[in-house]
Amino acid sequence: MNSPSVYLDNAGSTPMETEVIRVMQECMAELHGNPSAIHEAGRRARVRIEESRRIMARLLSVAPSEVFFCSGATEGISAILWGCVRDLGCRHIITSGLEHPAVLNTLESMAKYDHVRIHFTDVGANGHVDPDHLAFLLQQFQPALVCLMHANNEIGNLLPVNAVGELCKANGALLFSDTAQTIGKFRMDLSDLPLDFAVASAHKFHGPKGSGMMYIRGGLNPGALIRGGGQERNMRAGTENLYGIVGMAKALELSMSSLEQQMDYIRGLRARCMDRLLSLLPDIRFNGDVQGHSLYTILNLSLPEHVDAETLLPRLDMAGIYVSGGSACASGSLKASHVLSAMGADPKRPSVRISFSKYNTPEQIDILAGVLQSICA
Ligand code: PLP
Repeated sequence: MNSPSVYLDNAGSTPMETEVIRVMQECMAELHGNPSAIHEAGRRARVRIEESRRIMARLLSVAPSEVFFCSGATEGISAILWGCVRDLGCRHIITSGLEHPAVLNTLESMAKYDHVRIHFTDVGANGHVDPDHLAFLLQQFQPALVCLMHANNEIGNLLPVNAVGELCKANGALLFSDTAQTIGKFRMDLSDLPLDFAVASAHKFHGPKGSGMMYIRGGLNPGALIRGGGQERNMRAGTENLYGIVGMAKALELSMSSLEQQMDYIRGLRARCMDRLLSLLPDIRFNGDVQGHSLYTILNLSLPEHVDAETLLPRLDMAGIYVSGGSACASGSLKASHVLSAMGADPKRPSVRISFSKYNTPEQIDILAGVLQSICA
């Protein structure tokens, strides 16, 4: 009999909570009206959407009017970036080479237009943005939008968001942080953070795929990316993904209800993983600020040079271990990780991203360590 699989790719996507599936199924069975329709069936669907908006807003400490539902972080990122350039007068975007492809590829398309210029901050070998260079860029280029991710999805480094916010405020810049990896993982009081925009994808916190939200600070109106029927107060047209929205609000509610417990447990798994790997494979290197300012759900490591990069992920896969070799979107390809390249990591050492959730167990960590040891032998 095959051994059970070990899923350690939770930064890519997480398993759905049973309770989330249950509420979604209930909605699918009972709610069939279009939420924009004025009849009773439509009104019942609308009530669930607005109830979900209030839940999300309460858990993120923002006003319900600042929450806009969409299909996920990628769409939110595009809508916010294009909106800032098109409708909010941002002529410069200050970002880093560490961002998710959803940001980098959107900015690449924008760079074709003369009226917008993209500037990249320097990045240190520890994977953090250089604050002095960021300050320099902010002084040079205005009016600007700063677009820097809250937690890096490959190495887990966290942005010192309050310090970055101070710099933005001092230079009159707007601040957008891609919070896809942190919403659902921390208590996020968005009204207390110096952010103008944020995004979330429900599937990163045990909710459904294809459902997400944008936070847009009250008073800012970046306009819609998708135009049509005027849903989401003209910010995102198209019939709402009712079941996805209800599932996302339930998933965030459940994540927040046991957050501290969950954080302690996952931190323990990550520490165990580091200990086991270092004792079995002293030649490995952890990438990013692992012992410092980083997300507790992600561990990125480089294996010794002699390990064959091409067969590493397939061998882990055959052993029933699901991890990623970089960003989830690039997994399966052998393209070098743009994040590790930006940090100047050794390109000859193959890297693995291990990402944890509350569903992982200490035994799974030991299985992973044993398999990696045999692959490296
Ligand atoms: N931003 C970050 C930091 C991510 O980790 C991801 C997903 O991997 C995204 C954006 C895109 O999320 P989605 O694919 O759900 O739109």
